[in-house]
Amino acid sequence: MAKEDIFKKLVAHCKEYGFVFQSSEIYDGLGAVYDYGQLGVELKNNIKKYWWDSMVKLHENVVGLDSAIFMHPTIWKASGHVDAFSDPLIDNKDSKKRYRADVLIEEQLAKIEGKIDKEITKAKKRFGDSFDEQQFRETNPRVLANKTKFEELHTRFAKALNDGDLDELKQIIIDQAIVCPVSGSRNWTDVRQFNLMFSTEMGATAEGASTIYLRPETAQGIFVNYLNVQKTGRMKIPFGIAQIGKAFRNEIVARQFIFRMREFEQMEMQFFVRPGTELDWFGKWKETRMKWHKALGFGDENYRFHEHEKLAHYANAAVDVEYKFPFGFKEVEGIHSRTDFDLSQHEEYSGKKIRYFDPELNESYVPYVVETSIGVDRMFLQVISAAYSEEQLEKDTRIVLKIPAALAPIKLAVLPLVKKDGLPEIARQIINNLKFDFNCQYDEKDSIGKRYRRQDAIGTPFCVTVDHQTIEDNTVTIRYRDTMAQKRVAIEKLENIIGEKVNFKELFGKL
Ligand code: ATP
Repeated sequence: MAKEDIFKKLVAHCKEYGFVFQSSEIYDGLGAVYDYGQLGVELKNNIKKYWWDSMVKLHENVVGLDSAIFMHPTIWKASGHVDAFSDPLIDNKDSKKRYRADVLIEEQLAKIEGKIDKEITKAKKRFGDSFDEQQFRETNPRVLANKTKFEELHTRFAKALNDGDLDELKQIIIDQAIVCPVSGSRNWTDVRQFNLMFSTEMGATAEGASTIYLRPETAQGIFVNYLNVQKTGRMKIPFGIAQIGKAFRNEIVARQFIFRMREFEQMEMQFFVRPGTELDWFGKWKETRMKWHKALGFGDENYRFHEHEKLAHYANAAVDVEYKFPFGFKEVEGIHSRTDFDLSQHEEYSGKKIRYFDPELNESYVPYVVETSIGVDRMFLQVISAAYSEEQLEKDTRIVLKIPAALAPIKLAVLPLVKKDGLPEIARQIINNLKFDFNCQYDEKDSIGKRYRRQDAIGTPFCVTVDHQTIEDNTVTIRYRDTMAQKRVAIEKLENIIGEKVNFKELFGKL
């Protein structure tokens, strides 16, 4: 199946089963804003728990915070967001569509990479087992020509970005003959910077009101609380502060479902370290975070690190964790060594000392910061993309979401084989006993086969079927989602069998 088709199916599936809805749908929707439905909210909460517990519970020196979305407007001056949190935009004069200039060029780079991949796939087919990919990459003239093209464009693009040279970005688009996908024309405007922050007014009267911003990242709430947490928690460096919360960005190229939204949620951790040790910590967090992703079992080959082309002005190292979505490898998480930029800026703008007295060195300094920043929604899309599968069975196909059991929205469904003979009552009793520990669902409608399929489609790891034998010996059938294997077990064993599998411990054990 084409990858675009898989993605369309995923989006439709998320809606059909109550995971994700378009916001304000009955009013024809609001661009790049989404709501999470009855199952989506459960999955989202479980993802957040996986992150939060792995940060705060498993690291003695990481504590949590929940800061407000609204903050003093000067914070965004100090952080550089008022002046520099912008995207380079370009409009097509014929279609009147707006694009991010950097994204247009990145797509051009991906096209060239795609051509190389195509040559390799073709050659693989032609040569079969004797194919030596490395040799082919090093000698095939078409591959080599495209590789040179790629490298030249990449170098020119990185330089333009680093220099903030908007004219050069436009020139690249012209030289590469990039066309607007809607109008097909090359009739472009100049490239302009566009600030991504949403603003609103705080205060009752127009005269007394001041412009404030909806935070575009949760990180600044952590920086401005650094002293509060360090002092009241008697925290010793190195230590971290973790936060989960909403962030807002007026994204222009808002496509790809919940991959790029205007209102989204971030899980960020700022780790405060002694100056000079930040790159060691950067390396450590890079590995820790990659382990966290891979522990979910979606295939190590589907992850890679991507070094940044352009380092933000405050960073001395930055890397993205990329996951292979149906639309290609894309960023899920960023790990950044932010130096002492943010805390120093807040010192300057607030006039308050933001220091740490290091008893071992007997001196005070502004701590350096290593940040890990991941989008809840992107993580959600990663889980759904990895979990969605269509399986050909003997007689039909089944759609199954192979969500790791700890993250699954519903842990077990309890299904009376028939709606009579006291079976529904036993099923209800089982749920009553287990509902304090697990999210359970009761279902008595349709044939048992259809009910299994419904649970497969929402990723429920266990189905428990109550039948006539249950009345006699207190046993039920437990069916496993991934293998579809069924086993007869005593009712009183259910709690242990299920508990063992859905427990976060198993995931944490891999970290
Ligand atoms: P991108 O390059 O995709 O715009 P970014 O580099 O601006 O992302 P960061 O500022 O590093 O992203 O934000 C950290 C994380 O927050 C990202 O890795 C991503 O998971 C998430 N994120 C950022 N922007 C959005 C968005 N518009 N919608 C959903 N998640 C987002």
